[in-house]
Amino acid sequence: MAIEVYVFDLDGTIVNSGEDIAFAVNAALKEFSYWPVPEKEIISLIQDDSEKMLLNVLNRSTKNHFSLETDYNQKQFKKICEFYIDFYQNHPVIKTNLYAGIKNLLKVLKEKKKTIVLFTSKEEAATLKILENLDIADYFDFIFSKDSFNLGLDSLLDCINKKKSSNYESKNCIIFGDTALDIKRGRAFGATTVACRGGLGNSAELLAENPDFSFSVASEIEKFIDALSMEENSSKIIEFAMKNEVPIIQDEGSNFILDYIKSHNVKSVLEIGTAIGYSAIRFAQVSPEMRVTSIEIDEERYKTAQANVQEKGLESRVKIIFADALEYELNDFFDLIFIDAAKAQYQKFFEKYKHNLNEGGVIICDNLSFHGMVEDLSLTHNYSTKKLVKKIRKFIDFLKTNSEFITDFYSKGDGISVSKRKK
Ligand code: SAM
Repeated sequence: MAIEVYVFDLDGTIVNSGEDIAFAVNAALKEFSYWPVPEKEIISLIQDDSEKMLLNVLNRSTKNHFSLETDYNQKQFKKICEFYIDFYQNHPVIKTNLYAGIKNLLKVLKEKKKTIVLFTSKEEAATLKILENLDIADYFDFIFSKDSFNLGLDSLLDCINKKKSSNYESKNCIIFGDTALDIKRGRAFGATTVACRGGLGNSAELLAENPDFSFSVASEIEKFIDALSMEENSSKIIEFAMKNEVPIIQDEGSNFILDYIKSHNVKSVLEIGTAIGYSAIRFAQVSPEMRVTSIEIDEERYKTAQANVQEKGLESRVKIIFADALEYELNDFFDLIFIDAAKAQYQKFFEKYKHNLNEGGVIICDNLSFHGMVEDLSLTHNYSTKKLVKKIRKFIDFLKTNSEFITDFYSKGDGISVSKRKK
């Protein structure tokens, strides 16, 4: 695939801008003495072409009595459109915020030297105001707003290639969007397409377009950036994880653990959270003496993991257990315990399985940064995500103040801790 160019739609993909758009639309309706339309309904009518959106909203407001056939209405409509654009440009970031993990995703893409592109039908002034207010403008190598957007993706790529002296083709691009039209446009161009279901677009229509990948938020692509950078996708397991939204450890995180295993002569690993066996297989492949036990609560994933382990011929050394790790009783001992399951339960996993640690062994935990949100809670506005972030912070405090274990923290992958029993 060798994806090098990451193209993002703005509204509903990077920013949750529905409320501010609806607010501006209702301000325009009020100014011209039309009934307001409920926020939710306006959000469902948002589309690339703001005039079409306003016409649909006016039809809702007037119960289909607004027609552009009269001269008066045509003039009135023009004024409403102008008022809306002007109002929105002056108030584009009152409630608008970034979707969870976006800032970190942009940071990681920048570090990995990917070309980051914004491709939006929004007017330039509002676009720039939003990017600057949310402090993400500098991450974008190219910002294509309304006028350039209308020229299309082919001319966008020409422009990128000219400015960067590169030879990217459409197959090197990945397009993120939250509407069926975004996916259609991306596919017609020949790019890989990612549907963001948690955006403003209609989810069913979006998925009906058969995007290559579908995530609730664009930031979930973060784990797969390295896999997408390869010329040919090297691993069927990664491909499956991407297609089925199975969370797997990031390469940087797993490489860190693999290095630890090699340099500390680790011979046995217990993993809490197998998913489909990606990390368990990687650990087992370090050496023929390595034994891995891994616990997975989800039956489908457990079965897929079993199949993957068998396909690699590792069933004699990788034991997958289908169970809730919080309830399972395990009497074996391990050199390394890797906790990579439900983040809210990390402390419980830690306290339960510390008894299964060999002398000199370590407990390693992943996802302690949670897309940068643990360090900066303002990166999410979602109530349940905030709650989870607070639990991770509590777990970090638990590690820092633990009288039995000493913990080192590493900013590798999504944030890793290594805890060793005090002597
Ligand atoms: N370690 C895997 C890898 O990198 O390939 C990824 C694991 S994934 C992040 C977390 C997994 O933990 C999910 O598949 C989830 O079903 C599983 N899980 C969550 N709670 C669990 C529990 N109480 N017991 C066992 N597995 C659990």
